[in-house]
Amino acid sequence: MPFSVAIIGAGPSGFYTAEALRRSSLDFRIDLIEGLPTPFGLIRFGVAPDHQSTKRVARSYERTAQDEAVGYFGNVEVGRDIGLEELRGLYDAVVVAIGAPLDRELKIPGGDKAGVYGSATFVGWYNGHPDHRDLAPDLNTESVAIIGNGNVALDIARVLVKTPAEMATTDLPDYAGAVLHSAPVRDVHLIGRRGPLESKFTNVELREMARLEDCLPLVDPGQVPDGPAADADEREQRLQAKNLDTLRSFAGLDAAGKSKRVHFRFFNRPVEVLGGNQVEALRLEKTRVEDGHAVGTGETFDLPCGAVVAAIGTKAQPLEGLPFDQSKGVVTNRHGRVDRGLYVVGWARRGPTGVIGTNKPDAEEIAAHIEADLADAGGGFGAKASLARKTGRPALEDLLDQRGVNWISYDGWKVIEAAEVEAAEPGMPRKKLIRIAEMLAVLDGAGPAPRQRSD
Ligand code: NAP
Repeated sequence: MPFSVAIIGAGPSGFYTAEALRRSSLDFRIDLIEGLPTPFGLIRFGVAPDHQSTKRVARSYERTAQDEAVGYFGNVEVGRDIGLEELRGLYDAVVVAIGAPLDRELKIPGGDKAGVYGSATFVGWYNGHPDHRDLAPDLNTESVAIIGNGNVALDIARVLVKTPAEMATTDLPDYAGAVLHSAPVRDVHLIGRRGPLESKFTNVELREMARLEDCLPLVDPGQVPDGPAADADEREQRLQAKNLDTLRSFAGLDAAGKSKRVHFRFFNRPVEVLGGNQVEALRLEKTRVEDGHAVGTGETFDLPCGAVVAAIGTKAQPLEGLPFDQSKGVVTNRHGRVDRGLYVVGWARRGPTGVIGTNKPDAEEIAAHIEADLADAGGGFGAKASLARKTGRPALEDLLDQRGVNWISYDGWKVIEAAEVEAAEPGMPRKKLIRIAEMLAVLDGAGPAPRQRSD
């Protein structure tokens, strides 16, 4: 009898964990349990719609999901449909792979005004996440401030200024395109509390800002240092030098025919969101960097803007029964171990850092922990261990059926995906179904695919 492992969350870290277990010399039966009907998490809802090539990594997850050893239970929310403790009772090991989907709060006066959006919510809105479909951001403004100097801030800036033609081959939902492309936004301000050397932009993404059809990136040359930080290591210096070159190159771009601007505003710390109920301006304090930290100079100025997006990082969602480190926004763990038979992987473990592939070694480490811990628990993989094995998948199916949970298999997802591809206009990869009810409606009458029991 195989060992049973439940993975909560079918995003990159969940799939990489399933893949690592699948490649193990041990026999595992692995079930991915996903709150939404659709798999792939961050690939579908985080990666920008105009970065379709990045989304292609999902093809490798597809291969994982096609393996008989791997099950998929979409539309099953742990904490609502089944408790974490219940799941632990059914599986030999449970891996929490829930990512970091919640906004970090902008803790400055006025940070809760209408017109201030967190990046997870805003990105989820333009990426068709069912939870954020109804955000209806008010972009009836010429000026938007984005707080943060990471790749998410760049993604949001790009999506705000790209033309309909530039987005035509993406899966930007119609409702988001209608708001974005009718908005009078002319100036997008990228606010960094530190300088170019401390920014988190990766160079490929920064260079993209120079290739926008109707938008010019602007940076004050006086804010761009001559060279990389002397105390940085060689690799870091190389990356910094590239970004400095790119920022300098912006000055040579041709402004002709460009109606929009993205302003890189380094050394500015947001101190207050101004306005009545609605954002009217962002008060910024000029800073200098000392020992790597932003230090306020006391000099402030007000940047008029009608919307603010805080792209300052995200945090994991606490789950009942799971120890949680509120300050870091991650599941409390020691090298990915949470408790006996309970593990955490990916952004819920480390916080939102690195690229998608960074989750792979992380997942391999967790798979190795699981193998080692099961061996220990069983005194080796002999008869004793096999006696201890839990039922896993059939028991989960029984429990969900008893509760009337409308769970969706991977074949069910493929039916949804086919409907999305079919509905797409020429050149678009897919037209996403947004509401869960719409997805379930597609499955009605689709035969046995939506739910294929293992027995
Ligand atoms: P990030 O890279 O950690 O950047 C967060 C930014 O917010 C930093 O510039 C940070 O400044 C700033 N910040 C944090 N708290 C702040 C505050 N209270 N006030 C002002 N600024 C504040 O996070 P991210 O942009 O959300 O990206 C998350 C991860 O996804 C990253 O690893 C990123 O590379 C990855 N990603 C990759 C791509 C891609 O490859 N195309 C696209 C999107 C995201 P300090 O540095 O001063 O703290």
